[in-house]
Amino acid sequence: MPTLCFGCTVRLSRGEQILCTVCRNHLPLTEYDFVRENAVDRVFFGRTAIKKAAAMLFYDKQGVVKNLIHALKYNGQKQVGDFLGNWYGELLKNCLSEMNFDIVIPVPLHPKKLRKRGYNQVEGFGIKLAHHLQAEYRDDLLIKTANTRTQTKKNRLYRWMGNQALYKVRDMQKLEDKHILLVDDVITTGGTLEACAEALHKSPNISVSIAAMAVVP
Ligand SMILES: [Zn+2]
Repeated sequence: MPTLCFGCTVRLSRGEQILCTVCRNHLPLTEYDFVRENAVDRVFFGRTAIKKAAAMLFYDKQGVVKNLIHALKYNGQKQVGDFLGNWYGELLKNCLSEMNFDIVIPVPLHPKKLRKRGYNQVEGFGIKLAHHLQAEYRDDLLIKTANTRTQTKKNRLYRWMGNQALYKVRDMQKLEDKHILLVDDVITTGGTLEACAEALHKSPNISVSIAAMAVVP
């Protein structure tokens, strides 16, 4: 089976993986990290206690990033998550002198959704980030309790209140005094991450930071 570029569908040359050299060179990297303030930090200002936030790529309705994440979420291409996590992990590990993480936790899927998709699309990204950031990866500590979607038409406060109970922490003690890196695919309103962070903050003396594959600019 020929391997095609996930960005532009050109046939990949020997040595190329996931993306062709052209797409790789044009990937819209944000250069956001865990040191300097960025636009993702500003998404969460005044909303919930997020220590630091970052995203790897700018999301565009058309283009390479959309194609990558679509392949990962809907076409079973789990290796895209590993690819992005490895790349971003290599960049973010330069921040380890200033910022340390204990546990990487993915935004959870409801068990029904997980069964349907077969995997959490953030898993590969999270595992690779945890590896590079010398943290533990745990997908069993934060759970989603109902199989509903964020209601985009409701206002932010209502959405936050409605979302809050959707996520629950399973083991408060394990998270006590820890710095958590919460990971997700694409940040749009930040509503889901906010709800997850609120749930995590029920553990005593916890800090929560965020890393995503992409952010809608
Ligand atoms: Zn390409």
